Amino acid sequence: MNTPVLHVENLHVSFHTQSGTVQAVRGVQFSLDKGETLAIVGESGSGKSVTAKTIMRLLPKHNTRVVDGTITYDGEDILRISYRKMQSLRGAEISMVFQDPMTSLNPTMTIGKQLMEGIRKHQRATKGEARQRAVEMLRMVGIPNAEERMNAHPHQFSGGMRQRVVIAMALSCNPKILIADEPTTALDVTVQAQILDLMKALQQQTGTGIILITHDLGVVAHMAQKVAVMYAGQIVEMGRVEEIFYRPRHPYTWGLLKSMPKLHGPRNEPLIPIPGSPPDVVSLKRGCSFAPRCPYVMKVCKHFSPEAEFFGGGHMAKCWLLDQRAQKNLRHVEAGGRV
Ligand code: SF4
Repeated sequence: MNTPVLHVENLHVSFHTQSGTVQAVRGVQFSLDKGETLAIVGESGSGKSVTAKTIMRLLPKHNTRVVDGTITYDGEDILRISYRKMQSLRGAEISMVFQDPMTSLNPTMTIGKQLMEGIRKHQRATKGEARQRAVEMLRMVGIPNAEERMNAHPHQFSGGMRQRVVIAMALSCNPKILIADEPTTALDVTVQAQILDLMKALQQQTGTGIILITHDLGVVAHMAQKVAVMYAGQIVEMGRVEEIFYRPRHPYTWGLLKSMPKLHGPRNEPLIPIPGSPPDVVSLKRGCSFAPRCPYVMKVCKHFSPEAEFFGGGHMAKCWLLDQRAQKNLRHVEAGGRV
């Protein structure tokens, strides 16, 4: 059995806003193994990025509260280690790539200087060693004329090339975990594929565990071994990628899959959007959060939150249809009927 490189247990995170307390993350739980890619999917506002930023401890202190939970890395709860220790882990052992590369790059500094800064800080390398490693990383991510490009500024690179530089920066210290938050959303499709293939190849070389945050199920199928589906701050279904794509158990996952175009499906088959919009996480009602949008909603769903049901191999879903007492309803649903 693999020992997880990261384990998140019962994580609850809230924000204080003028309209009230936002329960952004509610009881999130998962593990990440060495060399594994876990995709976190869900609509905007489902808590994906907040979960990632909590792991990095990058959320604003003045209005954020980690209400409960632990994040275990290397035997320690990173929510409780000192700020100084977290700074030494960030970039060196746990790195993050954001959607927009310009949020990670300093427009006034050359690419080379920015790359070398991280390597010198975390690896205690001399200037010469850091330079050598920086050039090596730029070559590894496919930047042509790497030596010369060390002297260029971010604005002299295209969007795709900038994202490659950010990935080079994130992987320059061989982190054990890479968190990639929508790393290809801002890029055009051909560049997207190149960046994803690059991340996959680098992962195979380094054994880095990747948490990939995305709303694109095509990217998930290409990259991940494990998938967590988030809705209104909770993981509503989690499992191996084959389980989620071929044997999904939660109505929200069914909805996500039906709204995705299929390469080999009939050409005129319409995409079916999920009706309604995600709930307001400031005023969550009791019961299942998906109830107002769920075509299979039952009386019980509106009053009680469903417990997690497990199906072996780490496949889990939270839905009242999976409860023993609702099995008749589930068979009816599986046969194409409505409850
Ligand atoms: Fe739908 Fe009820 Fe399942 Fe929620 S618990 S997803 S409302 S069937």
